Amino acid sequence: MSSRPNYMPKLPAKEVTALMKECVATADRLAEKARLAPDSEPLPSGTDFSDEEYKATIEQLKAKSALPKHASESVGCAFAAKYLLRLTTILRSLSHDTQPKAIYLYIRIISSLGNPTDRRPSNPYLKNFFMSEEHAKDLASLVASAIINIGQFTAKPGNLPTVCWQLYAIVVLGDSAWGDDGRACIDVSLRQALVEKLKPLMPPAEEDVGASGTKDPIRRLVGSLEVAGMDGIGPNYLNAIRHGWLTTLSSGIEGDADCVVCGEEEVDLNCSRCKSAWYCSPECQSRAWKEEHKLRCFDATFSMSRTLDQKAKQPTGSDGMSW
Ligand SMILES: [Zn+2]
Ligand SMILES: [Zn+2]
Repeated sequence: MSSRPNYMPKLPAKEVTALMKECVATADRLAEKARLAPDSEPLPSGTDFSDEEYKATIEQLKAKSALPKHASESVGCAFAAKYLLRLTTILRSLSHDTQPKAIYLYIRIISSLGNPTDRRPSNPYLKNFFMSEEHAKDLASLVASAIINIGQFTAKPGNLPTVCWQLYAIVVLGDSAWGDDGRACIDVSLRQALVEKLKPLMPPAEEDVGASGTKDPIRRLVGSLEVAGMDGIGPNYLNAIRHGWLTTLSSGIEGDADCVVCGEEEVDLNCSRCKSAWYCSPECQSRAWKEEHKLRCFDATFSMSRTLDQKAKQPTGSDGMSW
């Protein structure tokens, strides 16, 4: 059986299982510290995280980012699958005035879960979540108003670029129709306020590369929101980027139209759990599961849709491997 050049199991099967368990435990610890575990005491209204709790959660985030890339990504997938829905539900109920630390922490956690637009490896849970009208319609607005109103986001040294990069992903993956002018999933007045807030914080301009060419996350976010407001290309600008991303993503490894393992183009098997990996045969599915896929495949608390993979044909079978 030939392998695709970019299919590279990193560990023996036995170690993959052990690592997966560690990654899930790391995600669970982060959830506990952030009061997101099922048995966690919810933050009483009007009360913020204590300094101790805040520090402990930041330490957990640092521990995650110190892991090797594939492990850190596994933690991001496990956390997103299990806790992102709960996190955003609580985030919606928090107050800028009395719970700024909790809001800051939760948005930092969202920003740490991985890049939903990486071709490989990806976090398919983030992509699904950010595209879901049910779960993410107001998510970009929640993050935008937190950046505007909570000083910690723009204090230095800070994590503003990371937060802006994830917000850009949320804005692009969200449907522009969710916003009041149909040009972005953030309403126009909030967009303008965010741009005003961020403009003075942008690093000096690179050569003239335009909003979609710049590598600086703040500049990219500001630029794209500004372009979206312009006449001409504006109205469809963000949805056009979204379409481009999804097309690229669907030719990446996760959500590929070819077999993840061998590259075979005839794929009939879709992972029944995460719906984001495709295989030509039970043999390839079984091999991928043992060698790699179990690091990124978890039961999600929200629905994972296979339509996002933009597959032309419907799969005929989806035998899950035993987990
Ligand atoms: Zn195959
Ligand atoms: Zn899967």
